Amino acid sequence: MNSNRLKDQIAVVTGASRGIGRGIALRLAAEGAIVVVHYGTRQEAAEETVSLIEAAGGTAFTVGAELDSLDSVLRLLQNLDEKLICRTGSNRFDILVNNAGIGTSPSFEETTEDDFDRLFAVNVKAPFFLVQQSLERLRDGGRIINISSGVTRIAYPHIMAYNLTKGALNTFTLHLAKLLGPRGITVNAVMPGIIDTDVNAAWLHTPDGRNFAVEMSALGRIGEPSDVADIVAFTASHEGRWVTGQMLDATGGSHL
Ligand code: NAP
Repeated sequence: MNSNRLKDQIAVVTGASRGIGRGIALRLAAEGAIVVVHYGTRQEAAEETVSLIEAAGGTAFTVGAELDSLDSVLRLLQNLDEKLICRTGSNRFDILVNNAGIGTSPSFEETTEDDFDRLFAVNVKAPFFLVQQSLERLRDGGRIINISSGVTRIAYPHIMAYNLTKGALNTFTLHLAKLLGPRGITVNAVMPGIIDTDVNAAWLHTPDGRNFAVEMSALGRIGEPSDVADIVAFTASHEGRWVTGQMLDATGGSHL
């Protein structure tokens, strides 16, 4: 689907080399946005996202940085500033999608302190400081969209530490929406259910795994990155302007 709802806007999508982030990058570009395709380690995959966007007539470029600390956020923004100023004459942008994340965790019993700290560093600390350090770069009337998870609504205790990180992201979303409302910036969380990406590939592509996921959704199928990307695009668009501080369920009606 191509439209110009986001024409001339600049969107930064973290973790857009693969999976849901790639889907979001493709969708926002199809809406006319210039998309910054962030990646952690897989530059080639990020370049592939850019190629797919360009092949569809869109505009995008990559920025790489592993995100897990304030320092890493500052490195990303320095790199981003240089590339944005070179292309647009300014380092301002309109849409920030905090999508990069570690998508699973060990069982409650097996989670180590290092696992716990790493999950919170990547899934909570990095988006926290990325937003904080982006406040002057983000234009008034802009959008922040945090990719959370359905596990903040549905009990799924075998990935406990991961679930807690997404709960923190929802809380961040609520308070940030109040803080940034006076600038006309909306802040929302989108909460996917089971989506067919690398993080689920090993179990989801077995007959039992497929049945489990299909039966979970009221709509009777497995979610695709585009299912999430369409909701993000709505939230990013002018049509989404009156929705803020919300946790938008994108689980295909899982566990209704
Ligand atoms: P994925 O396929 O594993 O992709 C993860 C993306 O995040 C990649 O682009 C990766 O970059 C980047 N990333 C991971 N750790 C990073 C780090 N430390 N620094 C910088 N970038 C990092 O994941 P996904 O399934 O698309 O999930 C995307 C988001 O949706 C995550 O926040 C996840 O929690 C959430 N989610 C997923 C599901 C699901 O079922 N898939 C459900 C609910 C919520 P590189 O590839 O370049 O390393």
